[in-house]
Amino acid sequence: MTARYYFFLLLLTFSTAFSPIFAQSKADKKVATQLRADITYLASDSLEGRRTSTEGERKAGDYIVARYKTIKISPYKSDYKLPFHFVYGKEIAAGTQIRIGSSTLQLKDDGFPLPFSASNHATGDVMPDILEQGNIWLVPLYTNQDQSTDPHFEAEKFMYEKAKEEAKKGASGVVFYDNFGGSFPPAFDRHSEYEPLDVPVIYLSNTTYQKYFSAATTDKGPVNIDLNITINKAERTGTNIAAYIDNKAPYTVILGAHYDHLGYGEDGNSLYANAVKEHKIHHGADDNGSGTAALMEMARAIKKNKKLKHFNYLFVHFSGEELGLYGSKAFVKEQGIDSAHFAFMINMDMVGRLNDSTHSLTLGGVGTSPAWNDVVDMAGDDFKLNIDSSGVGPSDHTSFYYANMPVLFFFTGSHKDYHKPSDVADAINYPGEVAIIKYIERVVAKMDKENKKPEFTATKQKSTGKSSFKVTLGIMPDYTFESGGVRIDGVSDNRPAIKAGLKQGDIITKLGDIKINGMQSYMEALSKFKPGDKTKVVFTRDGKEMTLPIELSK
Ligand SMILES: [Zn+2]
Repeated sequence: MTARYYFFLLLLTFSTAFSPIFAQSKADKKVATQLRADITYLASDSLEGRRTSTEGERKAGDYIVARYKTIKISPYKSDYKLPFHFVYGKEIAAGTQIRIGSSTLQLKDDGFPLPFSASNHATGDVMPDILEQGNIWLVPLYTNQDQSTDPHFEAEKFMYEKAKEEAKKGASGVVFYDNFGGSFPPAFDRHSEYEPLDVPVIYLSNTTYQKYFSAATTDKGPVNIDLNITINKAERTGTNIAAYIDNKAPYTVILGAHYDHLGYGEDGNSLYANAVKEHKIHHGADDNGSGTAALMEMARAIKKNKKLKHFNYLFVHFSGEELGLYGSKAFVKEQGIDSAHFAFMINMDMVGRLNDSTHSLTLGGVGTSPAWNDVVDMAGDDFKLNIDSSGVGPSDHTSFYYANMPVLFFFTGSHKDYHKPSDVADAINYPGEVAIIKYIERVVAKMDKENKKPEFTATKQKSTGKSSFKVTLGIMPDYTFESGGVRIDGVSDNRPAIKAGLKQGDIITKLGDIKINGMQSYMEALSKFKPGDKTKVVFTRDGKEMTLPIELSK
């Protein structure tokens, strides 16, 4: 489960009306034993937290592929493994060099280019007591000592705004330096939302500043600074795994679960303080060893059940989920998943922590098809359901909802070990997970028996409460798009964008007179309007530039 939306899903309800333990048949016990074996391996130390694009992800993938071979289910395409490439923020390119006098700096400790730096070359002589002059402008980071110990001082924001201003005033390069030995020195923020400026911008540590610009050094005259900067998009590769039962049916059902997790927390998504420093493995037994094991078990059961013939069945294990649903997005796009050939999608993400006293189970996507009303009834007395009607949630079903497919999302809820090293295999409720699998198998059997593609309905977007703007367009931006403008990943019903005629895939480049280069300028543009304002939106569709009138609303 991704952390970005996680906090909107705290849907805890309590009930005491349930029997504490599910009765288990011999077959159930066999399933529970298999789940335990799968989750224990997936969450073991040797997989190192299954972080996307690591050896741990590869080992987990090999294990999943081997299981499909054992249960004799073929790959979806020529290979079970389907690698995908994506851009994950920015990085300092190899070859980037900062020189002061005749020394070359150690990037990171001595200083580094900022993520919004231009990728080009600038050089000039500077004196520390002569600010804002010549080619390269020297700018102190802090205005006073107090600010250098203030955890709320937004160094990156300050540097971006100041550098933008200095470039406008004529600087061809901007060098910020830590003038006080601050308590919270800036780091290279790979996910910085600030767009590139026109000039190179770097930060120097206090030590570097003292070394090259102390009174003794500068007595000898000006110091040459040479900036040769390249900031790149960081390319990463993940691997989805897909297996397929082809019943020669007109429609295919997709069952999915992500198998990637946080590794040691290197991507910044751990909720355990000091995770990276202490080099702690995030085992990810519930998130999402549980869904991975459940999916393999369901595949085995569906393969065995000869009555299930009216749909084809596609089982997909996604990677890149924890970084922002990259695997499922890539799968939908690259495998041409569309609502014309695919009936519905069921997603399992964190199904291993059923509470034995409440039996509380979150069922998401209920509003995406009228067919799901029956699914709610089918829970019977086994579960106390928390219904979430939205097709948009913190996991991979969202990507299929945006492809106009009915979706269902199963989730046993959050817990104190969420995104921490303590999410381990021993804490899984195996009989509880078996009960959830049986529930989902009942749903699949019912849908297959009815032999009908369920109708899709769009759901209202839940307000995230995050937006501080007076107006919004009602779009889901593609946060991975970094080629100028804001690409629309989805549009909400009854909101300004859809009313104006905007569609998924359109790239917004201008709102009113404000040019939009990316998320940063998009948000700046929104802040300029109030509800009821009428303006025009410029966008690119299929390579052609178009303009439409739009009325903005809250
Ligand atoms: Zn997660």
